[in-house]
Amino acid sequence: MNITVIGLGNMGLPMAANLLKAGHIVTGFDLNPDLVAAHVANGGHGATSIAEAIRGAEAIVTMLPAGRHVDTVYLGPGGILDGINTKPILIDSSTIDVATAQKVAAEATKRGIDMLDAPVSGGTGGAIAGTLTFMCGGTDAAFAAAKPILQGMGKNIIHAGSAGAGQSAKICNNMMLAVAMFGVSEAFVLADKLGLDRQKLFDITSTSTGQSWALTTYCPAPGPVPTAPSNRDYTGGFAAALMLKDLKLAQDAAESVGAATPLGAHAARLYQEVNDAGEGARDFSVVFRWLAGLARAEVN
Ligand code: NAD
Repeated sequence: MNITVIGLGNMGLPMAANLLKAGHIVTGFDLNPDLVAAHVANGGHGATSIAEAIRGAEAIVTMLPAGRHVDTVYLGPGGILDGINTKPILIDSSTIDVATAQKVAAEATKRGIDMLDAPVSGGTGGAIAGTLTFMCGGTDAAFAAAKPILQGMGKNIIHAGSAGAGQSAKICNNMMLAVAMFGVSEAFVLADKLGLDRQKLFDITSTSTGQSWALTTYCPAPGPVPTAPSNRDYTGGFAAALMLKDLKLAQDAAESVGAATPLGAHAARLYQEVNDAGEGARDFSVVFRWLAGLARAEVN
């Protein structure tokens, strides 16, 4: 198929590479020309505008930072729905607010175009390996059209419900993850101070009830998991600024439906502090280093 990928960042670039590996013709566009060049080096086609990127597309995948970028790219002047003269399946895999996801999908539907919100879980490692989980919101027809494309980038493709349901699932997942990451980080900070060897703590907890993805895949303490961002100065993973965005989305959603999420609310406040400390561009596991640099009184 002719597939366009817009947003070639930490996630979009490797996802586009997997679509190439699956045999598709993939045209990429990003505001950063270096990322377009990287996609071309991977064997893809490059474009210098959205209009150019979507010409002849049978499917369009977007992987953008936040709701406002998705709004601009789909609904803005020179955006996807402005320039489209075919009816490709639209797949937005960014993590954004439910309201924007539903608004963009409704605009697409008015033009007779199927759209799916399909945010992902699995991190950059999952994007590179093609093992992402896709949580999808949209009609049965949109899901059926998108599924074979998503299978080129992911392992678990789940239809969560109607438009916006994928985003609802995603913010629940990331709220869980943020709380877990703080839990794991606090344990390693405590263990360091108690003089317990990090590797020993990892070997024990990774086979005990404390086990989690935050521990075994993105271990925030450098050492035990060589491929974790903590071993490359917290780069190349999931930015703390994006985690803060997701926690705010979760808190907005919790507020709107009256759900009690005290630890989610606290994690949002702490990630705000991490961002205020200038660590927003680092992987969200940087909370370990941030906590290690604090005294007990500063966070209690
Ligand atoms: P990123 O910042 O690395 O990439 C986003 C890209 O979008 C950037 O390269 C940026 O230049 C581009 N962009 C922004 N506005 C654009 C526009 N108008 N036109 C074209 N390109 C534009 O972010 P990422 O880490 O790849 O994350 C993307 C999305 O995926 C976010 O919503 C994030 O919450 C979600 N996500 C990320 C991870 C992760 O581990 N990084 C995991 C799951 C979900």
